[in-house]
Amino acid sequence: MTRLSPHFHLSEFVHSQTAARRGIDNTPPPWVVANLERLCRKVLEPVRAHFARPVIVSSGYRCPALNRAIGGASTSQHCRGEAADIEVPGISNVDLARWIEGNLLFDQLILEFYTPGQPSSGWVHASHGPRLRQQELTAQRVREWGRWRTRYVPGLVA
Ligand SMILES: [Zn+2]
Repeated sequence: MTRLSPHFHLSEFVHSQTAARRGIDNTPPPWVVANLERLCRKVLEPVRAHFARPVIVSSGYRCPALNRAIGGASTSQHCRGEAADIEVPGISNVDLARWIEGNLLFDQLILEFYTPGQPSSGWVHASHGPRLRQQELTAQRVREWGRWRTRYVPGLVA
């Protein structure tokens, strides 16, 4: 088991039900592992230390085949080991995002599909990379012309 930082293992970032179901080998190359180590050190370990709770990684690394399988953007930082989708049990995702916003350096911080009043709804996407834009977005599902699509709005909106 490869340890990325004191409290995080590589296995948490590579496991994927879609990859397992489709027989996709989601093993990252060493440069991606190095990026995941930085993400853990700069973002996930500070989150864990502040809330004194485990951080659940729902999606970490996505190899190109897995990213295609789930319809992810080809430029996704998940494909470079620079981003993770996280939650902290017992902490509302808006509180998690606001703590990161106020305390950490990051590239992109996205509050994804959070429904006000439902603390565990959605998740937080956080990235750290060569660029540190401190960009904050909120992803919402909106219905247009009878179809659901994702809309990104600036800031953490809840
Ligand atoms: Zn994400």
